[in-house]
Amino acid sequence: DVADIGVTGMAVMGSNLARNLARNGFKVAIHNRSVSKTEKVIDSYGGEGQFFPSESTEDFVKSLQKPRVAIIMVKAGKPTDAVIDELSQYMEQGDIIVDAGNALFTDTRRREAALREKGLHFVGTGVSGGEEGALNGPSIMPGGTKESYDRLGPMFEKISAHVDGVPCCTHVGADGAGHFVKMVHNGIEYADMQVISEAYDLMGRALGMGAGEIGEVFAEWNKGDLESFLIEVTATVLAHKDERTGKPFVDIVVDRAAQKGTGAWTVQTALDLGVPVTGIAEATFARSVSGDVEEREAAQRTLKAEVEPTEVGDKASFIDDLQKALYASKLVAYSQGFEEIAKGAETYGWDITLGDMAKIWRGGCIIRAKFLNRITEAYERDASLKLLLADPYFTEEIAKCVPAWRRVVAYAATNGYPAPVFASSLAYYDGIRAERLPANLIQAQRDFFGAHTYQRVDGEGTFHVEWSEDRRETRQDDTHG
Ligand code: NDP
Repeated sequence: DVADIGVTGMAVMGSNLARNLARNGFKVAIHNRSVSKTEKVIDSYGGEGQFFPSESTEDFVKSLQKPRVAIIMVKAGKPTDAVIDELSQYMEQGDIIVDAGNALFTDTRRREAALREKGLHFVGTGVSGGEEGALNGPSIMPGGTKESYDRLGPMFEKISAHVDGVPCCTHVGADGAGHFVKMVHNGIEYADMQVISEAYDLMGRALGMGAGEIGEVFAEWNKGDLESFLIEVTATVLAHKDERTGKPFVDIVVDRAAQKGTGAWTVQTALDLGVPVTGIAEATFARSVSGDVEEREAAQRTLKAEVEPTEVGDKASFIDDLQKALYASKLVAYSQGFEEIAKGAETYGWDITLGDMAKIWRGGCIIRAKFLNRITEAYERDASLKLLLADPYFTEEIAKCVPAWRRVVAYAATNGYPAPVFASSLAYYDGIRAERLPANLIQAQRDFFGAHTYQRVDGEGTFHVEWSEDRRETRQDDTHG
């Protein structure tokens, strides 16, 4: 008997993915560097489907039906390279190696190019939804060739989450496109979590509300435009009581956020591409601020607040304002994230259908939300949409939030409460829509100290002022020497 597909790496993610495949009727070859993990899967879950365990990489590869599909689910980085090297020794022309771990897309591009030389397909795929998703239906974002997708796509689509009967899996684009899109997904997740935290924080600080009461607000918000997995999780977590003290659980959790690096990758990549992902960047930095223990202690001892506290006014309307500030900031983060995907596609030559990315994020993944349908619709209206916020639906939606958003940001600033993503998203909104930005002065300064030239508002051409001489304007482009 030969297996339809194989998974190597039987830690939590790999074993769950293998079980998901087996439960869906596929014959699954399984392998792990240390044999004990493979045995454990067979012992505990062998009855869930047809598993074909192997102790050696060679036997694992041999147990696969041609063209072979082997999924790697091991620790990202060097272990992935080691496993690719081993697998490729036994694989043949046309076989497919899939990396389903959290790889950086540039590593995926490098690996894909190297394996292509050997006649093998390499598919870097994003898999979102954590352990639970891997087992019960993740959102899957595969890159690589169309040919490889023809072979593995139907299997992935079957085991992925489904929303309205549509699988949360599609071929994203060539080589590293899948891991790129997964990276931006994680960046958006950072922003989403931070805006929720800012709303929570302001309800506590401004209105003196406790975790339980704030949780009820989030439960209410989950019935409207904000309906999403993260809002739901927030409501559940805020309602939870610590079993040891009986206090609200969130009140006993240390306020230092960890990160595994995908938010930072999103921001670093955006900087390279020149895309202003201000929401994701501020969210990533907010985690860094929270983790700066010694710096925070030093600042707490020294930095003065100098605030003249203002009243919030009506509680219900302030909560309504917070909901709008959250929604508007979230729209900014998604718009920026999609801009990053569009710019990545342009730079790396990927044919990515932007609306489909929103579609495959509707289920299985952490940022799953009802409003993703609106993003798909926006790109269906106009596939070449330059800015998601400029789609008529989103333009209207955000416009409805603007006055409340300004009140929240002004209130937070006046009272000395940090709301970095609310505030920076509003600054981005006002910046991107401004007819004129102070970049004219930047260009003038650059021309002064670096002869970097400038363009005029009243005609064509590139110019420079001879600042250190007679301050005459000289034309710098070829046409007029
Ligand atoms: P780990 O990241 O903890 O990796 C453990 C696995 O890697 C074990 O099977 C281990 O084998 C194997 N391994 C480590 N080094 C090597 C090596 N040099 N050669 C061969 N095998 C090696 O496992 P997880 O299941 O937590 O995650 C797997 C992947 O999935 C990672 O890339 C991770 O980033 C990603 N991930 C994705 C999530 C998501 O939501 N999409 C969530 C969590 C993880 P051994 O047993 O022999 O040590």
